[in-house]
Amino acid sequence: MAAIGDMFYTWAADADVLKKGECGGAITALQQYALSSGMVDAVLAVRKGADIYDAVPTFITNPAEVAETAGSLHCGTLLLSKLVKDYLDSNKTARLGVTVKGCDTMGLIELAKRDAVDLDRLILLGVNCGGSVSPVLARKMIREKFGVDPDDVVKEEIDKGQFIIVTKDGQHKGISMDELEEEGFGRRGNCRRCKMKVPRQADLACGNWGVIGDKAGKATFVEVCSEKGANLLDAAVKAGSLKTDAANPKGIEIRGKVENAMLKLGDKWRKRYFEGLGEGKDRLKKIMNDTSRCIKCYACIENCPICYCVECSTKKSYLVEPGQVPPPFMFHLIRYAHISDSCINCGQCEEHCAMEIPNSLFMHALQVDLQEMFGHTPGVDMELPVLALVEEKTERKRLADTGSDQIFNIFE
Ligand code: FAD
Ligand code: SF4
Ligand code: SF4
Ligand code: SF4
Ligand code: SF4
Repeated sequence: MAAIGDMFYTWAADADVLKKGECGGAITALQQYALSSGMVDAVLAVRKGADIYDAVPTFITNPAEVAETAGSLHCGTLLLSKLVKDYLDSNKTARLGVTVKGCDTMGLIELAKRDAVDLDRLILLGVNCGGSVSPVLARKMIREKFGVDPDDVVKEEIDKGQFIIVTKDGQHKGISMDELEEEGFGRRGNCRRCKMKVPRQADLACGNWGVIGDKAGKATFVEVCSEKGANLLDAAVKAGSLKTDAANPKGIEIRGKVENAMLKLGDKWRKRYFEGLGEGKDRLKKIMNDTSRCIKCYACIENCPICYCVECSTKKSYLVEPGQVPPPFMFHLIRYAHISDSCINCGQCEEHCAMEIPNSLFMHALQVDLQEMFGHTPGVDMELPVLALVEEKTERKRLADTGSDQIFNIFE
């Protein structure tokens, strides 16, 4: 019987899933089993769309279709947290199995602590995550740095510090991520600063780090993070869907070292990005200058996992004067005030910004300052954010009674 903290090498029993999977297809086999056994009513995973730059989130209710989502897409910059919330909201009793990166998990935790998502209805299959690359930048990088037509690439991977591509005619080419990132390519800025490498808030944390010997590349390293995860793993093995072996102790040590090295790299990038913003008034000036390009498209709000309010304050005419583009700075100040203690650095507000404003960098810098001041780390556990200390229960009751989520009515 598996228990929390146990570590295994795992792979799919089914030959097709084993072949299609990124590292032995364990996640796909677990999702398939969870669905066919009735542990969940649907699965949310990511499949390749038109090409490798097109990651498509997909809800699946037919176990036979789960194999279509096998494989890792590093040029997919999705965040699944809000999709999960929408699914649970519109399927009132349904349970969902989801493959989640660190940022997806953190977004779900932030939603759960606001009673917006019920974690009991979810099985979270976490993937370790070294980072993802914006699709547009990936195409440019492959053309300019690899000298390859991006449409000729059939597979990409990030392995041992390299971004590796495989072309239609079977050629492999790899360039060091450090070199790519020094030249402005490589992982997204938020991914470089990310320190959620092994998502232990999920039920299982899965990845290729630490798989050595003859299983390297053919199995996934699974760390059991919850009883729910242990139960799923045991049941899938018992049903013959999944094979496991004890994790190699040397592999466990290597995985720990890689994780630590990635955390140090995250610190290095944080320092570099945050220092680049300057301090105090200089930082404010930079933020005001960059946000003056804003066209008030609301994409930053719509895609932020923590911005889920029924009535957004930025749409109140007494707070943000309507009809102005760019909007008054108050538009951005409202978001900084509401989100900065809980920002999970998922990058969505930057990724989706039509004016390429580094919103995520601004918010993450504020969040890290607040974390240092108040000791609250968002996305890791159910501890309430700093601002929730405003009569949370009363506010929830008022929200339930009135349907209004305005904490203060300044005109009363
Ligand atoms: P499979 O059975 O092939 O299943 C893969 C699952 O991942 C599927 O459910 C698929 O839908 C989902 N998926 C694919 N792309 C995405 C995406 N962009 N966002 C969310 N879900 C997705 N492991 C490490 O140890 N170190 C790393 O640095 C690392 N970086 C990763 C970066 C990304 C962006 C991703 C998606 C995964 C990363 N992994 C990393 C995990 C690793 O690549 C494998 O996913 C893991 O070992 C499981 O392998 P598998 O064969 O069991 O998965
Ligand atoms: Fe992965 Fe972190 Fe980037 Fe999310 S923010 S894609 S978890 S590196
Ligand atoms: Fe993600 Fe931006 Fe929201 Fe932070 S503010 S959680 S980076 S979308
Ligand atoms: Fe986001 Fe604040 Fe708007 Fe709510 S009111 S959606 S937290 S900006
Ligand atoms: Fe402004 Fe960018 Fe947000 Fe759109 S996404 S409202 S342009 S900051």
